[in-house]
Amino acid sequence: MTDTTDRFRDIRDAVRDLCRQFPDEYFRKVDERRAYPAEFVEALTKAGWLAALIPQEYGGSGLGLAEASVIMEEINRSGGNSGACHGQMYNMGTLLRHGSAAQKQAYLPKIASGELRLQSMAVTEPSTGTDTTKIKTTAVKVGGKSGDRYVVNGQKVWISRVQHSDLMILLARTTPLADVKKKSEGMSIFIVDLRDAIGKGLAVRPIANMVNHETNELFFENLEIPADNLIGHEGHGFKYILDGLNAERTLIAAECIGDGRWFIDRAAQYTKDRVVFGRPIAQNQGVQFPIAEAHIEVEAADLMRWKACELFDAHQPCGAQANMAKYLAAKASWEAANVCLQMHGGFGFASEYDIERKFRETRLYQVAPISTNLIFSYVAEHVLGLPKSF
Ligand SMILES: Cc1cc2nc3c(=O)[nH]c(=O)nc-3n(C[C@H](O)[C@H](O)[C@H](O)COP(=O)(O)OP(=O)(O)OC[C@H]3O[C@@H](n4cnc5c(N)ncnc54)[C@H](O)[C@@H]3O)c2cc1C
Repeated sequence: MTDTTDRFRDIRDAVRDLCRQFPDEYFRKVDERRAYPAEFVEALTKAGWLAALIPQEYGGSGLGLAEASVIMEEINRSGGNSGACHGQMYNMGTLLRHGSAAQKQAYLPKIASGELRLQSMAVTEPSTGTDTTKIKTTAVKVGGKSGDRYVVNGQKVWISRVQHSDLMILLARTTPLADVKKKSEGMSIFIVDLRDAIGKGLAVRPIANMVNHETNELFFENLEIPADNLIGHEGHGFKYILDGLNAERTLIAAECIGDGRWFIDRAAQYTKDRVVFGRPIAQNQGVQFPIAEAHIEVEAADLMRWKACELFDAHQPCGAQANMAKYLAAKASWEAANVCLQMHGGFGFASEYDIERKFRETRLYQVAPISTNLIFSYVAEHVLGLPKSF
């Protein structure tokens, strides 16, 4: 699958039209104020774009990952930042795949309409980092023999969009690590209604950070959640989280490709216009070649993104392709960012050119939602059969 036939032209045009209403100045001001692009997310939601992956029976548009990835790509290619809202597109996948019929009926139609926002997923913890199976947050079932609720204690870090979400998916240990055969067992996922939880067992502390990305520390102290909010079977939560990662990785790859194309367009335009030593700087091969190289790398990453989409949409295993697409695209967008900034000289540092903002934004994707080394580790172990190192 490639997009050379332009088969997603209608989606691209429609998303670009919407994004035109939110030009560079809009995102620049939101960034300056460290604000949330509420009007932009509202417009995307109203137009139905964030419900792309929700099946039609639940009020979504039932599109594939390929189409969804084009939506994310176009937002970033237009100068915006999908990071403010991509969770609403893919977090619901966990519920869709593993939730009960009652949970799906209760939540998915409202997520599709935008009445409920499921923008947050809480996995990372301060003391365990990437070593997820060591998480210390616990959920203990209480309420007699049948158990009608879970009590949650622990701490999470870097949990995004909590202040712009009604619901959150939470990973917690329900069986102590010492009592399970495999370390990946004994964790469960829950849907937490943030409107009930905040101030009643859940405290939220925002983390000031390099990007305008709303993210937080969470403190759970005897937070009670109804037993009905368990998603799927108790103890299988880690596997459920992993199931959702291929879509997340591929969508973020598409966002990086959108960023990469934005940087290359800006670099090409600026270097054609900027005259130094009596000629456009783009006439110098020392200027042309890095831009050409960045373009080649973004286009190559795009091929792996389409491969991942094709396999995902055909319900085939795609862990390797999704991880490789995310790695290649995050690296290519970062290199394109660096080239774009360099070719703008001092002006690259001026906020009004938007390059320094997007430069910061695209840098995130080599760390979150998974760091580059962990992708190498996945490929080494699961694709090449090299020995497990942790
Ligand atoms: C802005 C932002 C938003 C985020 N949003 C969310 C969110 O919504 N929900 C959520 O759950 N998390 C979120 N995260 C957390 C993110 O997923 C983690 O930061 C990321 O997975 C890395 O984990 P860590 O920060 O604990 O790094 P660590 O695990 O401490 O790793 C630090 C460095 O060491 C490397 N490293 C660690 N172990 C090894 C090894 N064995 N071999 C080689 N290298 C290794 C890593 O690759 C990394 O480069 C967010 C993070 C940021 C910065």
